[in-house]
Amino acid sequence: MKDSILVINCGSSSLKFAILANAGQETLMEGIADQLGSNNSTITFKYQGKKLQKTLALGSHESAVKEIKAWLDLHPAINDLLVGVGHRIVHGGETFKQSALINQDVINGIQECASLAPLHSPAHLKGINISLTLFPTLPQAAVFDTSFHQSLSEEQFLYPIPMDFYREHHFRKYGFHGTSYRYISQRLAQIWKGSEQQGVLVAHLGNGASTCAINKGKSSDTSMGITPLEGLMMGTRSGSLDPSLLTFIMKAKNLSADEALDVLNKKSGLLGVSELSNDCRTLEEAMESGDERAKLALDMFAIRAAKNLASVATTLESIDHLVFTGGIGENSSYLRQVICNHLKALNIGINSTLNKDAPRGETLNISSNESNTKVWIIPTNEELMIALDTISLIQH
Ligand code: ADP
Repeated sequence: MKDSILVINCGSSSLKFAILANAGQETLMEGIADQLGSNNSTITFKYQGKKLQKTLALGSHESAVKEIKAWLDLHPAINDLLVGVGHRIVHGGETFKQSALINQDVINGIQECASLAPLHSPAHLKGINISLTLFPTLPQAAVFDTSFHQSLSEEQFLYPIPMDFYREHHFRKYGFHGTSYRYISQRLAQIWKGSEQQGVLVAHLGNGASTCAINKGKSSDTSMGITPLEGLMMGTRSGSLDPSLLTFIMKAKNLSADEALDVLNKKSGLLGVSELSNDCRTLEEAMESGDERAKLALDMFAIRAAKNLASVATTLESIDHLVFTGGIGENSSYLRQVICNHLKALNIGINSTLNKDAPRGETLNISSNESNTKVWIIPTNEELMIALDTISLIQH
């Protein structure tokens, strides 16, 4: 059936892509262009179980999309199946409460949000502009990481600072990972009928990590804020801390505000504490061979994730489900166990054997018999959500 979607995810220095067929159920091809903006840019295509890597001469987002177009020209059978392009967009501000078909108004809207996401928005706009040029006959959609959290109440999304910062500058909590949370909410409703009328906690734990409370299918609170720095400790981000620390860091090392923020965004979190790596797998291996700093970093990550889950849970009437997702949530039995150990007071418990033996990539209920809350591992699928949104916007 002719219903394939090219999904494009432009980061500041990378571009991930995939072609999804059969209502998003089948990945025909996927890949990544890496280290964009440097002399070492490469693009890798994964197709029919084989990897093809090429250097990217110009190393730009534009040259990456041109390579994807060239690949499609060499694979006309796949090219002919394409009906649209779906773009992942990090920040939709208050303008975009749902996904949108891209036209000039939508491009202007994304441009207006650029001050809130200065690293990502220019990359998104480059990706959109070049795909509109190279795929002029295909409808294109924008799917926003922030949209799912537009249901937060004023009490939740406002920062307790003078109101004119909100009125004049739109400074407020936006939240991210929304496409993942929307997918998890829908997937849970497929496997547990009625969950769309219940209270659900989700921990999306990857290199970037956040939590979300979903009350009757709608986001009621989330840990990330105006930027993804707020909330949990992450791979290289500190997460929430006393804001005064920023000025202490600036003065201690004679840094500008942007440089000090860079410390909190890129040199903190698991990396900053372990002084070894931002990668959970590397830290677990180090912990197993006796590295105490790696264990400290992981345990700090876990305790903050648990505290934050308890915090966002205050917006729910009951905590019926807790879902772990993202690279760490899906794969680290150690962190799932420690996080749940800290949630005993909420009557949340897991079966240690089920947790340890959880097969990779599968949806699984790991709750203990006594747990009041069902605890799940559910692999996320943001590309599927982007493809489905694009198909649905094209059809309407
Ligand atoms: P991103 O935020 O970049 O999308 P991912 O969701 O891909 O991140 O998650 C990356 C994280 O998942 C890394 O810290 C990685 O070490 C961790 N991870 C992946 N597989 C495992 C595993 N088997 N055990 C522990 N951690 C894992």
